[in-house]
Amino acid sequence: MSKVYLVGAGPGDPELLTLRAARLLASADVVAYDELVSEEILAMAGRAERIPVGRRASGVRYHDDRIHPLVIERARAGQRVVRLKGGDPFVFGRGGEEAAALAEHGLSFEIVPGISAALGAAASTGIPLTHREVATSVTFATAHRVDDQGLEDVPAHGTVVIYMGLSRIAETAARLVAGGRPPSTPVALIERATTPAERVVEGTLATIGNLARAARIEPPAIAIVGEVVRHRVVDRTAARAVVGG
Ligand code: SAH
Repeated sequence: MSKVYLVGAGPGDPELLTLRAARLLASADVVAYDELVSEEILAMAGRAERIPVGRRASGVRYHDDRIHPLVIERARAGQRVVRLKGGDPFVFGRGGEEAAALAEHGLSFEIVPGISAALGAAASTGIPLTHREVATSVTFATAHRVDDQGLEDVPAHGTVVIYMGLSRIAETAARLVAGGRPPSTPVALIERATTPAERVVEGTLATIGNLARAARIEPPAIAIVGEVVRHRVVDRTAARAVVGG
């Protein structure tokens, strides 16, 4: 019985793949991947057939299908299919929908977790997501939602990490302020976390929109909001691009 592996590829740095992800890639017949997955990671799939299935990938539009038809087809043909997703498959990755679709097609599947962008960005910028003094909880939120609302419940306390929100970082920050967070709440916006192109802009809920525009931050980027940003630990001996302030 063939199996489809829904595998988290981590936030970017190939070293942050799990051993299981690396092993599955090396033995895959087919790798169906999102646009966020780097060439360096894809190279670990050796000579496997590559099927780009990202939203911007050319060819079949499969938005309504939940899973790419070629994934089903190849699995049915008995091939070892790795469905590779950025970060973790179950964190804003629609992994649940894809797994449900596989089950409906009578296919066997396995979920392999990955390091989600929030964790990768926190580690590479030195911002702890929780801190005994200032944050005892973390909320993973998205500014994009099916109904285009996004972040409707602003958590009263703790760190908030915002995925996919770059195009409306200013509105999202305003929403957090409307929800009761002080405008002076620190924010770090991290572009291409864990890759050599990583950049960080630090500001506040009041300033981050303008700072992001001025620094021309581009997707993928993730925002860490909360007092933890002030507890950032910087390795002074390492060179890192820090812009804004
Ligand atoms: N499943 C993924 C998230 C997919 S949603 C995960 O667990 O990380 C895509 C969003 O993730 C992007 O819009 C961005 O907000 C964030 N993201 C993914 N990789 C990133 C990276 N290397 N640096 C910053 N943000 C990233």
